[in-house]
Amino acid sequence: MAKYTVSYSCGHTMSVQLYGPTQERYRKIAYYEGGICPECFRVTKEQEPPIAHYRVCNSGVEINVVNSYAIKDTLKARGYRYNPTFVATRAGIVDFLARPTPAWQRIIAVVDGQAEAEAELMWLQNEMGARLRGHIMMEGIIASIAEGRPDLVPKGIAP
Ligand SMILES: [Zn+2]
Repeated sequence: MAKYTVSYSCGHTMSVQLYGPTQERYRKIAYYEGGICPECFRVTKEQEPPIAHYRVCNSGVEINVVNSYAIKDTLKARGYRYNPTFVATRAGIVDFLARPTPAWQRIIAVVDGQAEAEAELMWLQNEMGARLRGHIMMEGIIASIAEGRPDLVPKGIAP
């Protein structure tokens, strides 16, 4: 075990404690020096706006908000629950190589049109500064199946 001074690419230096074989320590230092320091990483993360992924099916509109750490308390108070394994779709297709991302999730049952869901998305956009990413029905079905959520698949369509 020894302390090393790491010079990150953002210009900050930090003392880190490393363990293990010497070669492994130098490999880690090289890895750290190729990236930004933990504090710059935290600041960068917080500046990324939340993204509200929504998808529509017969049972309602499911909204998953990622990059939502800064607004998680507000979302929680509004009835959102933590979804540790949200898988975003890319161009409407589930990216099976994508790692699941933590998100805050709310499902709005569509009883009388989609007014409530639309109002919720507008609130996310206007009050929370979220970017919206939506999926039409078929994409929502594919994503629901991929995530093991057959309850979101419209009746009459077998997963
Ligand atoms: Zn830094």
